[in-house]
Amino acid sequence: MSDTPVLQRILYSKEQLAERIAELGREISADYRGKQPLFVGILRGCIMFYADLLREISVDCTMDFMCLSSYSGTSSTGEVRTMLDLRESIKGRHVVIVEDIVDTGLTLDYLMKNLQSRGAASIEICCLLDKPANRKAEVHPKYIGFQVENEFVIGYGLDYDELYRNLPYIGVFKK
Ligand code: 5GP
Repeated sequence: MSDTPVLQRILYSKEQLAERIAELGREISADYRGKQPLFVGILRGCIMFYADLLREISVDCTMDFMCLSSYSGTSSTGEVRTMLDLRESIKGRHVVIVEDIVDTGLTLDYLMKNLQSRGAASIEICCLLDKPANRKAEVHPKYIGFQVENEFVIGYGLDYDELYRNLPYIGVFKK
């Protein structure tokens, strides 16, 4: 539990997250058999999801990370910047982007365009949470953990002003 009562309610428990992530891992592993995919984690929100998902992947794969910035507080600024880029070339690779949550879609729209220009063989998105109510750009995640309502969520990697990422479950933030 957090030191401060910041949650309105818990949305997904540790057990629910583990069960869904194991399903995603099996689905992705089946789709990428023999393809040696590259999993690109989008820091910092992806950390818990990435670590747990990758342990459910049963095909040979490699890992890399990017850090993008588009948010401050609870509202999107709409501006995306690359704070940390990939270490390796993705030319000819099958890339799976691992993201915590898709909200407006602006971050992933920027990222898809950016990665497509680098010559990947394929690029798909795997997001733990999808919040379709706020969509401003067309993005189509192939793998989605859960769809959520238009509420601000925290925990399991997701922050509010850098706090609460360490909560082992996902909950709705109490304003
Ligand atoms: P988008 O560009 O799709 O609007 O936003 C993507 C990023 O905004 C996510 O990777 C996440 O960091 C942040 N974000 C969007 N919705 C939420 C939310 O409900 N809670 C938290 N903690 N972050 C969010």
